[in-house]
Amino acid sequence: MSESNAEEAPEPLNSIDFRKLAWNSELANNVNSLKKLRLYFSLTEEEELTMQEVLDNHPMNIPRYYLSLIDPNDPNDPIRKLAIPTAEELVVAGQMGETTGDPYGDDKHNKGNGILHKYPYSALVVATEYCSMYCRHCFRKRIVGLPNDKTVESFQNAAKYIAEHKEITNMIISGGDPMMLPTSVIAKMLEALKNIDHVNYVRIGTRTPVVYPLRYLDDELIKVLRDFNQHKTLYIPTHFNHVNEITDLSKEAVLRIRNAGITVNNQAVFLKGVNDSVENLVDLMSGLTRIGVNPYYLYQCMPVSRVRHHFQVPLKRGVDIVAEAKRHLDGYAKRFKFIMGHDIGKIEICGRKDDILVMSQIHSRPEHPEEASRILMGRLTENAGWLEDLDLIE
Ligand code: SF4
Repeated sequence: MSESNAEEAPEPLNSIDFRKLAWNSELANNVNSLKKLRLYFSLTEEEELTMQEVLDNHPMNIPRYYLSLIDPNDPNDPIRKLAIPTAEELVVAGQMGETTGDPYGDDKHNKGNGILHKYPYSALVVATEYCSMYCRHCFRKRIVGLPNDKTVESFQNAAKYIAEHKEITNMIISGGDPMMLPTSVIAKMLEALKNIDHVNYVRIGTRTPVVYPLRYLDDELIKVLRDFNQHKTLYIPTHFNHVNEITDLSKEAVLRIRNAGITVNNQAVFLKGVNDSVENLVDLMSGLTRIGVNPYYLYQCMPVSRVRHHFQVPLKRGVDIVAEAKRHLDGYAKRFKFIMGHDIGKIEICGRKDDILVMSQIHSRPEHPEEASRILMGRLTENAGWLEDLDLIE
């Protein structure tokens, strides 16, 4: 008998009432090592060896709540693919083409104190590196974080930068996952933004409504969000990728946010083996409208190292799936834009006519204002997955 088999069996996930748990202490039970993972899943020796190699590069962190959504008997379970590492992550680049650690060009636009200022009117502040779950498809895996006291100090400096740049009309508090910060830290950050007149609204980008909804059972957090929203409009962009992530508890989290007067928008990522079918997209987008979340973006998976090879859907196939899904969706459910979050700006993927992909650039970098609102067309190949793979038509 191996050492692992001798370990005490954990509390069965389906018998845990996650509503009764304190959000901050429950994080200590996250599955963040092979030792913990094998308490819930049977892993072959080979799987363990490759997983350990993956974990040396990209850690694993899965809340028990999110783990409970996985069917342990289904090796192709979509939630499993989003949370549990596989040997595929050892492939830095592969069949889909070249990759990079920084596909969105974040580093070029870093103004210090965690500020990324890419578009004149929007500023993003990376508030923390920590997330309640490390998604296997994350495009910001490389970001280095700060301890919480340093976060507040940095944020005060970030707020100063925003106050000095009157062209900034909105800002995004991002990460990592800002909702993993203590409520008192979130309150201080929002306080620093309250009186900057030229900022029309603030977004807090978070995946916690999906992977850690018990965070929103904290009345104090809801109060902080509600109070800020009385001064300045607050939006919560979140990140549901699959209909199985819509549960009674995630619904309750969304409802508590909405009852505080805050709009929740969804930014999904199009991922092979997770949601790359008409049925999956229809179920996801209509499920979101049912719980009061607006489908906003569906991102083409970026050419991220150790991600692109196994998660990116070829554009030719992808654009057909999205077009067919939209035929089945009502007006609100099909409001989402299919987007390439490219280094040159955001590009909407509109559709294809035979082998010509039609795109519309909707944001550009400040140094190329002429590129905003332009139509782009490119020749598709079977495997093209990103703008650089297309032969652009002048
Ligand atoms: S929650 Fe967001 S930032 Fe954190 S690992 Fe997932 S995708 Fe990346």
